[in-house]
Amino acid sequence: MEKRTVYMDHAATTPVHPKSLEAMLPYFSEKYGNPSSIYGVARESRKALDDAREAVAGILGAKTTEIIFTSGGSEGDNAALKGTAFASKSKGNHIITSSIEHHAVLHTCHFLEKFGFEVTYLPVDNYGIVDPDELARAITDKTILVSIMMANNEVGTVQPIAEIGKLLKGKNITFHTDAVQAAGALPLDVNDLGVNLLTLSAHKFYGPKGVGILYLKRATPFLAQQQGGGQERNRRAGTENVPGIVGMTTALKLAVENLESNNRHNTQLRERLVKGVLGSVSKVRYNGHQTKRLPNNVNLSFEYVEGESILLNLDMMGVAASSGSACTSASLEPSHVLMAMGIPVEIAHGSLRLTLGASNTEEDVDYVVSLLPGIVERLRAMSPLAAQAAQ
Ligand SMILES: *Cc1c(COP(=O)(O)O)cnc(C)c1O
Repeated sequence: MEKRTVYMDHAATTPVHPKSLEAMLPYFSEKYGNPSSIYGVARESRKALDDAREAVAGILGAKTTEIIFTSGGSEGDNAALKGTAFASKSKGNHIITSSIEHHAVLHTCHFLEKFGFEVTYLPVDNYGIVDPDELARAITDKTILVSIMMANNEVGTVQPIAEIGKLLKGKNITFHTDAVQAAGALPLDVNDLGVNLLTLSAHKFYGPKGVGILYLKRATPFLAQQQGGGQERNRRAGTENVPGIVGMTTALKLAVENLESNNRHNTQLRERLVKGVLGSVSKVRYNGHQTKRLPNNVNLSFEYVEGESILLNLDMMGVAASSGSACTSASLEPSHVLMAMGIPVEIAHGSLRLTLGASNTEEDVDYVVSLLPGIVERLRAMSPLAAQAAQ
């Protein structure tokens, strides 16, 4: 097959949608005013900001005063956890999260442990799903915060957020969900989910990088994590990223409007990809849940090979993929998500994540399917583990 350029790493980031780019452009050079100023060009920025906040609030089923614009997913997760933990310290010091969260949540929990907070890291089953009953049993009278991601960035597993929201109802415990991977694939109504806080990041749904949303329900204890001006109702200081916010809002509207057709597109390609690889390569596992998973996520483990080596070989053939999360690519540690799912270390090392998106076609999928058997075979031919197993 002829060499192609294929991007299958949409869980790491996505290209900006042309309409999002178009919407942003005037706010860099013509409508550049600071929304806090009072003259004409600033009023244009203020109006754009107000309109964006109203649109985002509408999509989330929230009030405009409950929307905080941030610099992205990491800031949203940090602010959600630190902001509520420090604000609730007089009430208790116990936090519950899962062992498969993004590092923006896990590392923030490790940070909070240094300040006297105690964190329960819930295990997950072999599919990567948190058990709500187990979560309920972990609650103590010191529990102030629960943070469980809506969908996992490595294996695509979707968590029972609404169910957890129900069981926390009336308990006076703050509930946060990192919904960064869910945007554009799952409904995001904060009332249906029963959350106090929800984090989103624009660059995961075809918006620009460096901008995001933190939903903060009215009356939720919260201590601002960034001091300065009074922007975002004193909850996040700093001149607003007006172009980014405008571009993000355009992208979010499109993602929500086209949710079903995008999911159909991704699901169809995912099934073709999984079937193709499982049918042509031996000793490969399809990680995660069959149905409770993001439509665009494929996570595979190939026995006796290194995921990194597969990635390098795919890259030489024009294919961009990941071996787990972008953050683990640089380290030799196997994915904490796969480890929590009980996948043996040596198999976790042979993992490959392919995340589909708008630009992908059946031809892209067939190209990747045609490459993998040869790559895996060559790598196994050099692997002492494969040789041992063959004896
Ligand atoms: C990408 C990602 C983040 C971090 O978002 P940034 O905007 O890149 O800081 C957080 N959580 C999840 C689940 C993600 O996939």
